[in-house]
Amino acid sequence: MKANCWMGRNSVEVREVPDPRILNSRDAVVRVTSTAICGSDLHLYDGYVPTMKKGDILGHEFMGEVVEVGPKVSTLKVGDRVVVPFPIACGNCTACEHGMFSLCENSNPNAGLAEKVMGHTPSGIFGYSHMLGGYPGGQAQYARVPFADVGPIKIEDDLPDEKVLFLSDILPTGWMGAEMCDIKPGDTIAVWGAGPVGQFAVASAYLMGAERVICIDRHPYRLRIAERAGAEALNYEEADVLDTLRDVTAGRGPDACVDAVGMEAHHPTPAMYAYDRVKQAARLETERPYALREAIMACRNGGIVSVIGVYGGVLDKFPMGSLMNRSLTLRSGQCHVQRYLKPLLAKIREGDIDPSFVITHRMRLEDAPRGYEMFKNKTDGCNKIVLTP
Ligand SMILES: [Zn+2]
Ligand SMILES: [Zn+2]
Repeated sequence: MKANCWMGRNSVEVREVPDPRILNSRDAVVRVTSTAICGSDLHLYDGYVPTMKKGDILGHEFMGEVVEVGPKVSTLKVGDRVVVPFPIACGNCTACEHGMFSLCENSNPNAGLAEKVMGHTPSGIFGYSHMLGGYPGGQAQYARVPFADVGPIKIEDDLPDEKVLFLSDILPTGWMGAEMCDIKPGDTIAVWGAGPVGQFAVASAYLMGAERVICIDRHPYRLRIAERAGAEALNYEEADVLDTLRDVTAGRGPDACVDAVGMEAHHPTPAMYAYDRVKQAARLETERPYALREAIMACRNGGIVSVIGVYGGVLDKFPMGSLMNRSLTLRSGQCHVQRYLKPLLAKIREGDIDPSFVITHRMRLEDAPRGYEMFKNKTDGCNKIVLTP
């Protein structure tokens, strides 16, 4: 089959690779009908996530048709149409039983690698480094899906791929980012990052009753899309973020702040950007955490900072004094996607949200290298790319 493979920093290549096979009794093999490139794939592309190997198949956002099932998968049959969540979860361990699927204790065969970096391991993730399981991803014609009796959700009506594909990651991730804010009617929420996850966090915050949602980015085209989800746009290259957020909240700050940016943030002050860029390049810190620092400083006393942007290791100049003295709550996590599949599918079906509004580009799988370049460099108004194998 054809698959999009990581070939080194800033290099992906669509190559012929062996077809996936059933390896365990709870596996299924899916013929991928749609797959997407995610902002977190760019952290791999940019070389900031350790333990990638040349030839690794990328992609953790995919859906398709079941073509083979293992003997212990009774919930799916050949021909079923499914969306596959990005965290791989067994359904039986303590974490899974508590609905913390991205912390599954049984799905990372390389747990030891992750423990060295993080103390304990989270779940395995499709196409996201050997530290997180070394699972081949879904930017391919076929993918093996472990624990197929737990993760994938069947799509039994005629909803098109583009409306349900993002159940695999970015829609539930944005939703969980808003959910962690404990939104009450009348709340003002600020979201750093007007990429697709931030755009979904904006839409979710409104569905949860937020009064105002302010979205912070520097790319006007991404802010325009966030505005379509209802956000008030704040371009940090044009206005001071902390001043503006104080102004619109009677001096208090937003009730909750969402970091939908993560480890590769930009900063309008060249000196600050250079400081973290140099330390990151020298591996003295792994992150450029401007969005997180600013979200903490901006948040009102006693508020919540919700982190859904991806981080990999350690960071500098963390405003712990602000967090502690002002009674802030910091919440975070890779999304427990499996928990949100049914309720969010129902919202799509009922028309409360149509996630396809984030898509700007549709390409064939063979065009993945061009897609990665375009998405990384934010050219041609590139917000979200869907690939068709
Ligand atoms: Zn993703
Ligand atoms: Zn588990």
